[in-house]
Amino acid sequence: MAAVHFGCVSNGTLYFALVSFTFNQYLAMKAKREINIVILDLFGTLIKFGVQNHPFRQLLKWARENGRQVMPNDARTVMTINGGIDAISLGLGIKPPRELAQIIESQIEDELSSLSLFDDVIPTLNALQSRGIRIGLCSNLAQPYGAVIDKLLTHFQLEQFLSYELGAIKPEAQIYESILSRFDCEPDQCLFIGDTFEADYAGPIAVGMKALHLTRSGATQPHQISSLVDMLAHLDGGHR
Ligand SMILES: [Mg+2]
Repeated sequence: MAAVHFGCVSNGTLYFALVSFTFNQYLAMKAKREINIVILDLFGTLIKFGVQNHPFRQLLKWARENGRQVMPNDARTVMTINGGIDAISLGLGIKPPRELAQIIESQIEDELSSLSLFDDVIPTLNALQSRGIRIGLCSNLAQPYGAVIDKLLTHFQLEQFLSYELGAIKPEAQIYESILSRFDCEPDQCLFIGDTFEADYAGPIAVGMKALHLTRSGATQPHQISSLVDMLAHLDGGHR
């Protein structure tokens, strides 16, 4: 077995190896720093909409028509409240009529029924799991949409980092830091993949993660992939 010796001291009777370790140990140390966690965005990355009703836009439109101005952080508020329509309305400081709340709930139900996985999701998740790579989901979403994970992704062991549970949205550093904390890992052990540049590429890169921007219409840059399956080649090649 190959051995590497870094320096030695001898006074004639004492041979003293300062550092000595085998090549296999060296490889094991190196492997620790390789990517062993993949974090995936949900919508547009794993999941596609059939119908899209934009129910919260309608809720905010009603609010505006009833004298409440749109606020810059309204979308953040919607995605960081861990509750249904009533709790979200309360967080927005509005009280929509019961009929409107029911319409919104029903529109969300229609959307949830229309959701499906992109064709490359199951093969990619299977390949990642067979390699022993841990997988996380990280999504900006309102709480009622969280049901999609149990609906479509029950067969996989997936850590969840959801904006409404964490009280933070991408690309805020806090949401990526919660990933590092829960996996107890270094940033460069994580590869983040998603279809929104700021949330899924620039944000993760800013905290030291590796990232790929999924552009399903076609990849033209080295940091882009057009299919989830392409991520496997990046993992094999240790690509950034
Ligand atoms: Mg997305």
